Amino acid sequence: MKDDNFLKENNARHMWHPMAHPADSLANPPDIIVEGEGVEIVDVDGHRTVDAVGGLWNVNLGYSCQPVKDAIAAQLNKLPYYSTFRGTSNDAVIELSAMLRDFFAPDGLSRAFFTSGGSDSVEIALRLARQYHKIRGEAGRVKFLSLKKGYHGTHTLGASVNGNANFRTQYEPLMPGCYHIPAPYTYRNPFNETDPARLAQFCLAALEDEIRFQGAETIAAFIMEPVLGAGGVIPPHESFMPGVRSLCDKYGILLIADEVITAFGRTGSWSGSRHWGVKPEFMCTAKAITNGYFPFGAVMVADGVAEVFENDKSGKGAIGSGYTYSGHPVGAAAAIACLKETERLQVKNNAAARGAELYEGLLKLADKHEAIGDVRGGHGLMCALELVSDRTSKTPVNKQVIGKVHRVTYENGVMVRVSGNNIIMSPPLVLSQQNVQTILSALDAGFEAIA
Ligand code: PMP
Repeated sequence: MKDDNFLKENNARHMWHPMAHPADSLANPPDIIVEGEGVEIVDVDGHRTVDAVGGLWNVNLGYSCQPVKDAIAAQLNKLPYYSTFRGTSNDAVIELSAMLRDFFAPDGLSRAFFTSGGSDSVEIALRLARQYHKIRGEAGRVKFLSLKKGYHGTHTLGASVNGNANFRTQYEPLMPGCYHIPAPYTYRNPFNETDPARLAQFCLAALEDEIRFQGAETIAAFIMEPVLGAGGVIPPHESFMPGVRSLCDKYGILLIADEVITAFGRTGSWSGSRHWGVKPEFMCTAKAITNGYFPFGAVMVADGVAEVFENDKSGKGAIGSGYTYSGHPVGAAAAIACLKETERLQVKNNAAARGAELYEGLLKLADKHEAIGDVRGGHGLMCALELVSDRTSKTPVNKQVIGKVHRVTYENGVMVRVSGNNIIMSPPLVLSQQNVQTILSALDAGFEAIA
């Protein structure tokens, strides 16, 4: 491996970082991570931290998951690649498909379309939603509705349904026919409503209003994250997603659950949809499907939708979408091992228990530190702190202030993620009680530093 100085000097000079300004990456070089063990990571200077980001919401089983590593190595030696395009398949991906069918049976999802990651999964779900209506003779259903603050990846369809200007403005014009409704975000919303149940009703009314305004017969699907992630961890009230489901049913609109973060246990349930008692027509997964060790994803398809494609006699059901790496055998082998470990360890239960402790601890931190304007979580291991310079005006803190909290927290042994004026946490689901305390005390030190 190259020495530390080489790494530091060459990082931003020859590589552009996703979601970063190139000039900023040069001025503020990133932490260079060189090792991972358990729930901890080690940087190039030998500094060890609890990874409260869990990679990027994906390393659910931590960095030492030997069965997944072994499965990847074994598959590389047996069959490192074969395509699943029409006419061929591979044994690993067939075994995985059957496992996913069992895993997602309670969600009513029985078919899998494989992808290379979350953005790919979103793209496929949106495409298949339009195609479903075309097969059924409703070719006018082409529009998509989604939530402001939602995040659905970087491809053009996904960016078009994204609800955050940061991911849209520089790339406009995006795809026409995508409309956004207010998110059930109690801390800031256009209704000035702080009661989660009432806010959910207002947002649902806005959704119905938009459906009527656009004309239900023009809308293909509504896409949402069961708990909004990258937009700042926004869990809706329990009535929200079931309310969306009812409206979709009422108007013949498909529901796409973007579970790139929430599938496989993060919310304390095996899927975010199940967490809210809802069955979507499509579920986008990626990230934790391979514990982040291999780029991979799957769009799960509901039985009823699958039948429409499979029974089509017109030819419109032919899937004209696919990636070279759809059903990659190494990714499939990783996913099989990952799913077995996920179920053996029943990680959803630990996510729920540790998530509750973390959320409670964060609420206590907010009693102590004025800069914490809002604490969000309470649904497994995904939490956020929203930082403000003044609690009454809710003015977001500036980059320097949140940067300082991040830095001091890191120096105190915990990696958290900064997104706008939010500090986001999505640690591995195998987190211990002691790890939770480490996260809380490091954050406490971080906030002391800006007091
Ligand atoms: N959807 C959601 C809900 C996500 O959180 C993400 C990634 N954070 C994506 C889609 C895109 O996934 P990827 O980065 O793997 O393309």
